[in-house]
This record gives sequence, structure tokens and C-alpha cells, in this order.
Amino acid sequence: MRMNLKSCACAFLTIAALAASFTLAADDILKPGVQPDHSKSLFDGKDTSDWVVFGSKDPADWPVEDGVMVSAKHDIATKAKFKDFQLHVEFNEPSLGPEFKGQDRGNSGVFLQGRYELQVLDSYHNDTYANGACGAIYGVKAPLKMVPKPPGEWQTYDITFHAAKFEDGKKVSNAHVTVYWNGELVQDNTEIPHETGSGSKETAAGGPIRLQFHHHSVKFRNIWIVPIKG
Ligand code: MG
Repeated sequence: MRMNLKSCACAFLTIAALAASFTLAADDILKPGVQPDHSKSLFDGKDTSDWVVFGSKDPADWPVEDGVMVSAKHDIATKAKFKDFQLHVEFNEPSLGPEFKGQDRGNSGVFLQGRYELQVLDSYHNDTYANGACGAIYGVKAPLKMVPKPPGEWQTYDITFHAAKFEDGKKVSNAHVTVYWNGELVQDNTEIPHETGSGSKETAAGGPIRLQFHHHSVKFRNIWIVPIKG
């Protein structure tokens, strides 16, 4: 078979395009310290205009002070909804007295699609059950290692999330998540078989990023997202 220059180029481009699309799916893990150019800020330190009170259309009312927002009164959620994504979140635990222990110590959370909670907790010298610690997918999977920083120091989550898949209204594959906590791998493509705790019900639709208020004032800053094309 003879191939002219044009058909060769076309075949090459097709193979290159297939390789590129494969690379996007297989190598899309958000690495710590990397912020893609096309990331979208969800909180830039100025206001909470991208957020609502979770479960309502009311504007989010967590106080914003000195470039950070502080958990208060109820959960908040992004107006936008997402399927697969990379997400960066920074959080800072309050300094509490020794009477606050276990789950009652700086508890908050990052709910992926509003459904699956990546626990936020002051786990610095604070014991609790393993799959309820900071870095855990709450109630599902403990972190691979514990790398907490003390209250008052900023901590980071770099998250790559792939949504559950549905066909004809039936789930055919579970959600998966990879998480770096303070630069260390703590969830490695962890399968999440169901929504966690107070998470919203699993469906084929996208969901918001939801931040939990759980009695304590946890600070957040520098939250951005990169939707992954399916
Ligand atoms: Mg929590």
C-alpha cells in the first residue's frame, strides 16, 4: 500500500491525538506545588461570591478576614458543579484547649461533589479512629501516613477526583480520589464505594465543592480547581 505525504501526516496526527488523549486520562494527577495556568479560583481571599449556604441559594456568609475565610454556622458549597477535577485547598486549624479531643478538635471537611468527605481535623497529637483522621476519606479509608502540621500553620490538600460513572441510571464504576496532604501521598487512587456521612446522594450529575462547618473555626484560603475533561 502506498501512502502519500498527506496521508502519512494525517495518520501521525491521529496517533498523536490518541496519545495525547490517553495521556490526559492516565497522567492527570495534581502534583503538590503545581498550579496549572488554566486553574480557576474558587476563593481568592477577597469574598465568597462563588459560594452559597449549602442546600440553599443564599449567599455564603462565612467571615472573610485578612484574605482567609473561616468556617461558621453551616456548610457552604460552590455555585458551580463539577464531575472530574483537580482541586487545591489550604486550611489552618484553630488552637484549642486540651478538652477538645478526637473528632471534636478542629473538625471540618472538603466534600467532593458534595458527596464524599475528605476529612479536615486537627490531627496533631490528637488520636481518633483511623478513617476519621485528617487525610481520611471519612469512614472509608485512613490516610497512608499521618503528616499533620500544628494548629496555626497552613496545610495543603492537592486532590485529583474522578466521579462515579453511571449508565442508564445505574452506577457502573465507583468514584476514585488521589490526595497529597502537605506534599505527601495519603490517598492513592482510593475507591469510594458510596457517599460518606452527611454527603449528598450519589447520582450521575456533577456536584459542588462543599466545605463543612463542624463547631470549630477552621480557616481556608487559596482554593482553586481544574475541571478534567471526560
Ligand atoms: Mg469533618
